[in-house]
Amino acid sequence: MSKILDEVLNANQQYASSFDKGDLAMPPARRFAVLTCMDARLDPAKFAGLAEGDAHVIRNAGGRASDDAIRSLVISYKLLGTREWFVVHHTNCGMETFSDDTMRKLLKHSLKTATLDKDGWHDVGQGPGSAEGDFIDWLTISDQQQAVIADVQRIRSHPLVPRDIPIYGFIYDVITGKLMEVAEATRLGKAA
Ligand SMILES: [Zn+2]
Repeated sequence: MSKILDEVLNANQQYASSFDKGDLAMPPARRFAVLTCMDARLDPAKFAGLAEGDAHVIRNAGGRASDDAIRSLVISYKLLGTREWFVVHHTNCGMETFSDDTMRKLLKHSLKTATLDKDGWHDVGQGPGSAEGDFIDWLTISDQQQAVIADVQRIRSHPLVPRDIPIYGFIYDVITGKLMEVAEATRLGKAA
């Protein structure tokens, strides 16, 4: 068995052996949702003080307000009753290290894992690659603050999002563990 598979199944056995949360309700008890990055350094349960059953956490590369993130947020409110939303990006995000063009070229060359050095991303793997990357908007980030503002604004102005949900914009600092508010984003995300 793969070492990781083994570790995960062992950890789960431990978790389940003292599990006592089987009676939680489906709607999040604290009625909020967090949209954040998939970055492994971020643990929303810890940085936002969540326990099982508390809140929705929607994650993707960058914590971007993609159509699919909005799909989840709309379900979160419309069917499961969340009342406040957080958009949390973070410092040192991988999404700042490439552009659509970079990613498309890398994928065209090879599907294997690329490497990053001071000159940027390089392919070390063998081809073939694929041009399918040309059809994906990779939602990369060139300015952290602006990306949070743009995402809060997109969610705020989305026709399926009601005006009465406040949307807060934050950047999580991977060095200090602190959430830093992006005031302009929160201002734009204000409920009406
Ligand atoms: Zn990230």
